[in-house]
Amino acid sequence: MSPRVRPLVTATIAALVSLSALPDPMLVASGRGTQRIGTDPLVADAVSRVTVEHLREDLTTLVGFGTRHTRSDTDSDDRGIGAARRWLRDQFAAIEKDAAVGMRVELQAHLVGPGPRMPGGTELVNVVATLPGSDPDRVIVISGHMDSRNSSDADIEGDAPGANDDGSGTVLVLEAARAICGALSDARVAAARDGRPFPRLRASIRFAAVAGEEQGLWGSRAMAEADREDGVDVIGMITNDIVGGVGGGNGMRNRGLVRLFSEGVPSSEDAARVTGSDNDAPSRQLARVFAEAGVTYVPALETVLVFRQDRYLRGGDHRAYNEVGYAGIRFTDMYEHFDRQHQDVRTEDGREYGDTLEHIDYFNLADVARVNVAGVLGLALAPPAPTDVRVDISVLSHDTRLLWADPRDAQVAGYRVRMRPTDAPRWTESRDVGLVHEVTLEGISKDDVLFAVEAYDAEGRTSTMVYPRPGR
Ligand SMILES: [Zn+2]
Repeated sequence: MSPRVRPLVTATIAALVSLSALPDPMLVASGRGTQRIGTDPLVADAVSRVTVEHLREDLTTLVGFGTRHTRSDTDSDDRGIGAARRWLRDQFAAIEKDAAVGMRVELQAHLVGPGPRMPGGTELVNVVATLPGSDPDRVIVISGHMDSRNSSDADIEGDAPGANDDGSGTVLVLEAARAICGALSDARVAAARDGRPFPRLRASIRFAAVAGEEQGLWGSRAMAEADREDGVDVIGMITNDIVGGVGGGNGMRNRGLVRLFSEGVPSSEDAARVTGSDNDAPSRQLARVFAEAGVTYVPALETVLVFRQDRYLRGGDHRAYNEVGYAGIRFTDMYEHFDRQHQDVRTEDGREYGDTLEHIDYFNLADVARVNVAGVLGLALAPPAPTDVRVDISVLSHDTRLLWADPRDAQVAGYRVRMRPTDAPRWTESRDVGLVHEVTLEGISKDDVLFAVEAYDAEGRTSTMVYPRPGR
């Protein structure tokens, strides 16, 4: 770090804090950046409903289908991907039956291929459950991939338990649906009883268990392309893939940690959106939202932000969304065990291979599920993000002028400006500016600080944050 530069930035931020007439009651600075100090009771209730027992029971059933290879048997009732997806569909349907929150459950079939590892004309089926929000086109997608594989991708019959890859992410999505639908249902009953307004989601939540991931993201790509074609406003896609490992091949344990991957400059090459910073693209902001939700609602788990799209030699379903221009992020174990990924279950020279149930840490998996629930539900309840966010570069100035417009269909109570030095990964300061559409931050230089603007409603429910384009 440069001693000549760093104090200058710190001093600028400090100047801002002293100038701020109204300290923001919602946010407080900590060693891990700013975090929300108030919790939303509905989100807290949903988070509290996630249980280790549900995750263990669901994963045991899912692994019990033997193999979930994308091209495995689809007719059997107890083996193969057909049985697995029908069981998943029935679980989502049972959740809706209990909660009666209007969740639509579907098997969505796509004819895919030909391509690497996918013969032409393969019918691929995603299990999709959509909890509708009041905004017509806004959707947040939470996914895991139901398909599994073993050492040879051509082996469509042998056991491929896929407990961690990606049974863990699949049952996480199921448990997130159970928690969110249950909390929403009970909140509605309580509201009706007390004569209070009915709590409503603004954005829809789509819970997805996709197929064809192991052959090249076929299921998520079919979904992403359909969203792009239909003009769906996808706030973000969160994939959970390998999120239940008990320990890494390096001898380290995952307990208390999870990685969250996000791309920098968007894969869709719309680089204009990130002018001035390759660290503030929509996927990266989405990752910050989830990390902050984790700090607030699941303090036992640390979300370690990794500023790259994914690990080397690996890819995940969020990439399919990134590639068509949507924000997408991936949760994955802090430490991986490569003997337990894409391996036939066997023992060789005393060494055990295979992705089996005994290597799952349900406590960590439950915490990852809780962070997902907090982030997804928080965003679905929040207003849309502000639009046309700009930083005024028309004149040389020691101050910073930011401008923005209301989101479409706005029920916004105010706006908040987030700030951090250019070399900081997470937001370090914030300023609640109220219901205005521009602000001049006196004594804050746009050259030394990164900004974003977010919208909140009367309950303090907050949108994603938007990086300002240079404008006049
Ligand atoms: Zn996977």
